[in-house]
Amino acid sequence: MIKNISDEYVYKKEVDWSLFNYGFAIPIEYQVMFRQVADRFIQRGESKDITLYLNGKSYKAKLNNNRIDKKFGPHADIVQIRYSQNSELAQALRGYFQRSYAYISMMKRLQEKGSKKHISLPEDFKEYLAVYTTEYDDTYVLETIGSQDIEILRNIIAGQSERTMEAQFNFDMKDDTAGCKEKEQIVKIRKLNKKIGDNLKRLYGYRCQICGKLIGEEYGSHVAEAHHIDYFVRSLNNDASNQIILCPNHHSIIHDVDPVFDRTRLLYTYANGVEEKLVLNRHL
Ligand SMILES: [Zn+2]
Ligand SMILES: [Zn+2]
Repeated sequence: MIKNISDEYVYKKEVDWSLFNYGFAIPIEYQVMFRQVADRFIQRGESKDITLYLNGKSYKAKLNNNRIDKKFGPHADIVQIRYSQNSELAQALRGYFQRSYAYISMMKRLQEKGSKKHISLPEDFKEYLAVYTTEYDDTYVLETIGSQDIEILRNIIAGQSERTMEAQFNFDMKDDTAGCKEKEQIVKIRKLNKKIGDNLKRLYGYRCQICGKLIGEEYGSHVAEAHHIDYFVRSLNNDASNQIILCPNHHSIIHDVDPVFDRTRLLYTYANGVEEKLVLNRHL
């Protein structure tokens, strides 16, 4: 399925060593949105020139669909955004994420020589790069989500209700409690959150993952809502893996009753003992 020209997708990438040096892979579930060239997808062994915009500056890079040796047998495509260590983009990313770069560099030095062990950032200062597709199939927009952005968000949403917070993501509502200099961070993170939710709504065709119903279609509408499994006001986790798509009824009931979600069985258990398993799942 070729994406709609108006559809924008986002991939939220956790900052790591490869991002500072040569690029990063696009996970399989996002590839379709990133691989498009004109009216087809780039095939194995092909690459395309791409332009990435970061804070108003443009950078050149490549999007590769890697050739995979037959000896590895059947294998999913490996699609990567690549640039060199000396490229302006790699330098800019090292500059934006100075704190992460310093931390990972230090951990690398402490690591045994030749060790390929992946170094993740500590839970309390993870930083992210959001990669947005645009209406042009060779152009992407990057946005940095630094630890200071997350800290500001944490302060602003302290004491807010989950329903208010989610309404801002689901219905694009404005938040007027933030001060002027905080607005930019809030707008940036809310946009990322909303996009991740919107991507999931499209993935499920606006159906509720619990009951499978498509609400509002007979009126030419669809009113699916994105819900955060671990409440966003507590977890600040807007990864796709922490969101599910619900009909308005299930969403209200879940906030009213606060059932327990079992991640391995993909099952909600309500206080009265009723259990509901997700009937639709393609991303958890
Ligand atoms: Zn439902
Ligand atoms: Zn919710």
